[in-house]
Amino acid sequence: MSLRIVVTVKYVPDATGDRHFADDLTVDRDDVDGLLSELDEYAVEQALQISENSDDDVEITVLTVGPEDAKDALRKALSMGADKAIHVEDDDLHGTDAIGTSLVLAKAIEKAGYDLVISGMASTDGTMGVIPALLAERLGVPQVTLLSEVSVEDGTVKGRRDGDAASEQLEASLPAVVSVTDQSGEARYPSFKGIMAAKKKPVQSWDLSDLDIDEDEVGLENAYTTVDAATERPARTAGTIVKDEGEGGKQLAEFLASQKFI
Ligand SMILES: Cc1cc2nc3c(=O)[nH]c(=O)nc-3n(C[C@H](O)[C@H](O)[C@H](O)COP(=O)(O)OP(=O)(O)OC[C@H]3O[C@@H](n4cnc5c(N)ncnc54)[C@H](O)[C@@H]3O)c2cc1C
Repeated sequence: MSLRIVVTVKYVPDATGDRHFADDLTVDRDDVDGLLSELDEYAVEQALQISENSDDDVEITVLTVGPEDAKDALRKALSMGADKAIHVEDDDLHGTDAIGTSLVLAKAIEKAGYDLVISGMASTDGTMGVIPALLAERLGVPQVTLLSEVSVEDGTVKGRRDGDAASEQLEASLPAVVSVTDQSGEARYPSFKGIMAAKKKPVQSWDLSDLDIDEDEVGLENAYTTVDAATERPARTAGTIVKDEGEGGKQLAEFLASQKFI
């Protein structure tokens, strides 16, 4: 038997960089370095562990929708051990919202062929955590989200979802969509061998026409959400320095009380 896993990986602006909005109030992606969303590294890791623990032939495809530089995110996932990559890139995608992004991802997943889709719990920039549910709805398959443990056995995906009051054991028959949390297991670092091997792994590029998507189904003008205004965060002011000359603890407590923290 074989198992085809598609892992959705997002290329996000580096949160430690200086991020700005462009004139049309979308994120200025040209002005800041990007990287593979850290939360998606957990999704890649779980796909690799499923593969390593399986007697079946497992093929792991990593998929991103994003600009030219999003290839960097794919290369990182390939160097961790994924087998191949798909990059969906098209100028008409500029400003596409979550609904449009889920359409593009779903069409690409269908075209690639899949038994299991693994997503992160949220991207580190948009952080909506809605894409896995939107994908399951569009693909018409079960969703098992926010798993901190995941395994595949006999055509069934199983996992544990930890809540505040209880942990649930969940399962769904394949094909299915799952999302995994940052508690699912530390993501591995790419080895030197992995980095070298990634250079030779196939990266397929698709645009909207490859996916039979019309330009009026995506893009800023067709987004359901609109950003009306954005204001830059004010520059940080210098903090209050408390010099401890015997009264430091008291001063600290007074400061916290004045800010209503205690
Ligand atoms: C070029 C480009 C321009 C965009 N411009 C805008 C804009 O102007 N306004 C706007 O509202 N949105 C825009 N988006 C979409 C936005 O960045 C998000 O991808 C989308 O809204 C999903 O929301 P999220 O990031 O909160 O995903 P979440 O639901 O938090 O993500 C959950 C998981 O879904 C997967 N995922 C999410 N996005 C992608 C992706 N792009 N590729 C692969 N996997 C993914 C990952 O596995 C992730 O862990 C743009 C996207 C692209 C690619």
